[in-house]
Amino acid sequence: MQKYDRILLKLSGESLQGTQKYGLSTEVLHSYAEQIRDAAASGVRIAVVIGGGNIFRGLTGAKRGFDRVKGDQMGMLATIINSLALQSALEDNGVKAKVLTSIRMEPVGEYYSKARALEYLDAGYVVIVGGGTSNPYFSTDSAAALRGIELETDVLLKGTRVDGVYTADPEKDPAAVKFDEISFDEVYARNLKIMDLTAFTLCRENRLPVIVFDMDTPGNLARVLAAEAIGTLVKP
Ligand code: UDP
Repeated sequence: MQKYDRILLKLSGESLQGTQKYGLSTEVLHSYAEQIRDAAASGVRIAVVIGGGNIFRGLTGAKRGFDRVKGDQMGMLATIINSLALQSALEDNGVKAKVLTSIRMEPVGEYYSKARALEYLDAGYVVIVGGGTSNPYFSTDSAAALRGIELETDVLLKGTRVDGVYTADPEKDPAAVKFDEISFDEVYARNLKIMDLTAFTLCRENRLPVIVFDMDTPGNLARVLAAEAIGTLVKP
């Protein structure tokens, strides 16, 4: 039985660089596109928000002397580059996909609105929303939370390279233990970092469940959608 009708998938920009230090790995893009193709074939409606960390981050730019607002705008443009790359990889895999942009940028993509996104989702398109929230000082996690709430998705799937939420950072602490399920309150009380606090608060206050899972293992997206117990479910 299909568990979800509509999902928001957040993909990290940094993961798109694969083993490279910068930019786009075609292997990762195609692996993500195949996973999204298989998920879409199950009938679930999929909206995607991608980060831009493989190209530019405003905060890193500011440390190197760039103006923060311009740096963030560069980061948001990076998310649009990634969105177009994913659209192209999806279309190569026979998937209908649209890029909507939060910053007006026709003909690169149509300008985002809730109504337009829902129209395309209902018509069977994978809808990629690029350009973050369109505002500096926000992250693409916040954009994913915002679009998930706005588009009334059942869940926000946060695809990362870690396979869930742990008691401590598993890349630093080998004794860290993974949660299968955890509440927003407990994540907050334990000061666990699943996303930045703005994004976290948006999800918590609007009761949008989050599943943190490892998107870099092929087939995992379909497993999450089939309600297999992988990753960590963060729930109200
Ligand atoms: N960004 C922004 N506003 C937004 C979303 C993103 O200013 O609403 C900028 C910010 O500079 C951020 C960059 O875009 O560092 C790339 O996004 P993010 O760091 O979230 O990407 P990821 O970590 O997922 O690769």
